Order: sequence, then structure tokens, then C-alpha cells
Amino acid sequence: MLAANQTYYTVENLTAEAALQELKDGNDRYVLDHVEHPHEGAQRRVDLSSAQHPFAIVLGCADSRVVPELIFDQGVGDLFVLRVAGHIADDAVIASIEFAVEHLGTRLVVVLGHEKCGAVMAAINHAFSEGKLNSLISYIEPAVKAGQQANGDCVISDTVKAHVNLMVSEIQSTEPILSHEVKNGILKVVPAYYRLATGKVEFMNK
Ligand SMILES: [Zn+2]
Repeated sequence: MLAANQTYYTVENLTAEAALQELKDGNDRYVLDHVEHPHEGAQRRVDLSSAQHPFAIVLGCADSRVVPELIFDQGVGDLFVLRVAGHIADDAVIASIEFAVEHLGTRLVVVLGHEKCGAVMAAINHAFSEGKLNSLISYIEPAVKAGQQANGDCVISDTVKAHVNLMVSEIQSTEPILSHEVKNGILKVVPAYYRLATGKVEFMNK
């Protein structure tokens, strides 16, 4: 349970490396079923009512099985979460990341792919529709092409990971705010891959 003196993270005391360690520790608790459900309840709401200082940004999929606050065992005000099918970094997502970095001081971005991602499978299978899905799939197609060139076919997990890495590169290279913070060593953007059954998040080496 939440201790009375539970640390209240602020951006000032949490570097990208420390933020990453918090996420790793929280995921370890989740995998082992030793979750603490920190930073919930009425007092936490009051503490955050004047300002928010999320220590990490998570760009993840809208998939109902991949819930960042749960899989990293975090609470209210801890994570700045962006969820969209296929964890694509379109303009709205990039703008949201810029906001958190520039105005909230957050120093870590995690791009979180996962097993059996339906959006990536749709891109691999060219499952085009008459609706807006096509525009979303267009963000994933470069990873599909990369996978086909590397292997001759597309393994879903490889394509998800390639897509995660491409989104990491997109975020890191976006001028001027994000690229500047990355070059200065303030901001880290890290790729990760989530396994559905075990709950384990693998932080990938890019
Ligand atoms: Zn997905």
C-alpha cells in the first residue's frame, strides 16, 4: 500500500535515467503481481490540483490490454500518456510531447509497442478500409517495407519493433524543441516492447 511518506516526484528531482528506473521497477512489480497502486486517492488529487509534473511520457497503442499506468504500476499525475492505435507519432502526438517536454519539464519518452498489435497487422495485411484507417496505416507502412526488405516477409513482432524504432527516430529528430533537448542530453526517447501474457516490458536497444 501507499506509504504516508510516498515520494512525490517532481521533474526537478527526476532525470531521464531515474524516470526510466522508476518505470522498470514498476513493471517488475506488475509482472510479479506485487503492485502498489501508488499515487491514488483524495490527497493525491489535492496535491496535483495546482500543477502536474509527470515524470515520463508514454506513447502507446490504444489496445485495451496495454494500459501504461497499470503495467508500470503508476498513479495519478505520474505519466503523460498518449494512446493511439499503432502508437503513431503524427503531428498531434508530437505536439503533445512537445507540450509535456517544454511546459511540464518531462525528460523521458517511452514509445511502447506490443505483441499482436492489430494496427501493425492491418498494415502488414494491407487491410485497407473506406474510413480513416488508411491514414493511420500509412504511418506504419515504412516499418512493413523495412521488414520485407530484411526478411523477405513480415514477422509481426519484428515489424512492431521496427515501427517503434522509427517513431523514436521521428520524435528525436523533430525540430526545434525535441531535437534540441535530445542533443543537450536532457531528453531521452527509448523504445520498448510489451508482452501480453507475462506483462513484461522489454526496453530495446535501438
Ligand atoms: Zn496495438
